[in-house]
Amino acid sequence: SVSCCYCLIDAELAASLLPVRQADDHKGTFGHALVVAGSVGKVGAARMTAHAALRSGAGLVSAAIEYDLVGQLMAQTPEIMSRPMRGENGQLSVACFDALKEAWADMSAVAVGPGLGTDVTVAALVARLVAECPLPVVLDADALTVMVNQLCGLSQRSGATVITPHPGEMARLTGLSIAEVQDNRIDVAQAFARDHGVVVLLKGAHTVITDGERVWINSSGNSGMASAGMGDVLTGMIVSYLAQGLEPFCAAALAAYVHGAAADLCRQQFGGVGYLAGDVMATIPMARRLIE
Ligand code: AMP
Ligand code: MG
Repeated sequence: SVSCCYCLIDAELAASLLPVRQADDHKGTFGHALVVAGSVGKVGAARMTAHAALRSGAGLVSAAIEYDLVGQLMAQTPEIMSRPMRGENGQLSVACFDALKEAWADMSAVAVGPGLGTDVTVAALVARLVAECPLPVVLDADALTVMVNQLCGLSQRSGATVITPHPGEMARLTGLSIAEVQDNRIDVAQAFARDHGVVVLLKGAHTVITDGERVWINSSGNSGMASAGMGDVLTGMIVSYLAQGLEPFCAAALAAYVHGAAADLCRQQFGGVGYLAGDVMATIPMARRLIE
């Protein structure tokens, strides 16, 4: 099934994508993910992205976050390391660029955007990271919002890029209406992937993953996922699989499937409405076990 152009991602296909692990592997084998996320009032977004990366098997996870927010982040998940940086207005700023560059020198993959803020100084930081970071990068949420006017930077990157827009974010990136995006999900995602040389994961029921050539449609998940923080968890899963060495298209496809499968387990356990992104995050290992 892997060779066809349009594919449904089911348990079997997802299982074939899982990073191989050996009994004598150590945490250095599984990569170090850097999460650039969070701002005042949105520390949870950074926490969920980083925590989901750990739950998905990354060996180490560090969060680049504003100095004053480190305590909040660490109190909840001590396994997450931090790279504290002095920003502006409780957000990271372009003044953090050198510190960020130093941080990514030790890392395997980077996630940028959840709860990051959208000030001009954040936009300048994201633009420089996109231009200069040689690692595989996942761009989500606020990183997509601030990239709208600098999309030409995407095709010039040396490292791979995965973007994870929901339909509203995709509408902003393309200048289309949300209805136009939703009526042509596959074509819109595929054209964007081709034009900008990125992997696109277009969220929503039947998430589309495409590198411009391959188009895969996810079969897992349910409408209870339309709630706060779910996308942050997905971003953490993708950066985790990238850090573990999966190619970007496979990392995005596997993350979409396991994310939805974890949410399907939550629906069974709690009911279809009112389980939280945190519940999905905690269920990632069980969802993985189902397909192993
Ligand atoms: P975000 O909007 O960034 O928080 O991401 C929401 C997450 O929930 C994405 O992974 C979506 O694919 C998923 N999601 C939202 N609504 C639905 C739905 N109706 N059916 C399945 N998945 C959904
Ligand atoms: Mg989101």
